[in-house]
Amino acid sequence: STDPTASTPARSQQLFERAQRVIPGGVNSPVRAFRAVGGTPRFIARAQGAHLWDADGQRYIDYIGSWGPMILGHGHPAALEAVQKAALEGFSFGAPTEREVELAEEILRHVPSMEMVRLVSSGTEAGMSAIRLARGATGRSVIVKFNGCYHGHADSLLVKAGSGLATFGHATSAGVPPEVVQHTLVLEYNDVAQLDEAFALHGADIACVIMEPIAGNMNFVRASVPFMQRARELCTQHGALLILDEVMTGFRVALGGAQSLYAQQIPGFAPDLTVLGKVIGGGMPLAAFGGPRAVMEQLAPLGPVYQAGTLSGNPVATACGLATLREISRPGFYDRLAARTRAWMQGLEDAARAEGVPLVTDCEGGMFGFFLLPELPQNYPQVLATDGPRFNRLFHGLLARGVYIAPALYEAGFVSSAHTEDDIAQSVAAAREVFRELSKA
Ligand code: PMP
Repeated sequence: STDPTASTPARSQQLFERAQRVIPGGVNSPVRAFRAVGGTPRFIARAQGAHLWDADGQRYIDYIGSWGPMILGHGHPAALEAVQKAALEGFSFGAPTEREVELAEEILRHVPSMEMVRLVSSGTEAGMSAIRLARGATGRSVIVKFNGCYHGHADSLLVKAGSGLATFGHATSAGVPPEVVQHTLVLEYNDVAQLDEAFALHGADIACVIMEPIAGNMNFVRASVPFMQRARELCTQHGALLILDEVMTGFRVALGGAQSLYAQQIPGFAPDLTVLGKVIGGGMPLAAFGGPRAVMEQLAPLGPVYQAGTLSGNPVATACGLATLREISRPGFYDRLAARTRAWMQGLEDAARAEGVPLVTDCEGGMFGFFLLPELPQNYPQVLATDGPRFNRLFHGLLARGVYIAPALYEAGFVSSAHTEDDIAQSVAAAREVFRELSKA
């Protein structure tokens, strides 16, 4: 049952073949294609609560949640009602609406470092626009990012490290000219000494440092408190902006995002700009970026930094986002979500230990990561030390037992408020069976 092709449902296979004739790789976003783990991606027909059903009628417990947005689970009645009502009023006007103002107010209420916010349609757009704003506001060109952090597919961010700190990055995608990435410096995550060195060498030219506070694109790796604190200090000293990309962590790890957790440990901590997405749209195309008034007022139509969008602040998307934020701001929501997520990780650890499989886990709120490693990694090279083929067997073993985790070892996972104790128990039992198979081979 861990042979990726043995349990392939027929209808998904047919659809995948048809899809590959008309869509590159058969998918509209690469990770969906199961390239890392092998086998055929499941074509999803519908979802409800914590469950997905594929085109063959097979049910899965969903730990991807559309890669983060579905914090209430699928088809939550409040979100569904808000979307249906908004759709009847109109899909898109290209003119301002009251609902956008309400959503902006709701976001700002929970994220005090943001005094103003602009709504866009994807995390990519939000990250790209935040970088342009940081460059416009500082009049500088250099951006610092970290190996293993993903901020969307804007040209200047598709970069891997150069050979040294004095040399800048190389594009990781064809179609990105070297001139476009010549201002992007890529450093190792959680490496304070490299950060110090980068600012010592380039401090006067650095517009911003952008980072995922808990990196969810290298599975689940927290920025250490000293690393976050040093990034904040260096940005302040050198007049650069600290951008936290909370597309994944915002309203996911806590109501105030990961920044609220660092603020508990670093006195006075706040980023300059915050990038949001995923949960704030509740599954509809919606993202945002924001920060201090003086910086945000550099944006058009007030200031010289251009940014725009036909569907920005879309009335149906904002209705879904608003309904979602109202549900998750109810008292006790995150305590329950975090308890469920911890139970899943604890169950996984216990099952692995019982079968003699090395496994470590971490989680915060409704976001988790687990590694087939003896200890938690601190950066991307350490994450990549995972035994890939072993992870792939775990993935397919779980999938065959109706448990759907991310089809790549460098992705975080998500629990929703719709996951029940029974879902967790079934998932743990499935994992234990797979760990037993892994320990035999
Ligand atoms: N930033 C982070 C931290 C992300 O995880 C993602 C998407 N996974 C993005 C930005 C890009 O968002 P989108 O896919 O909506 O463009």
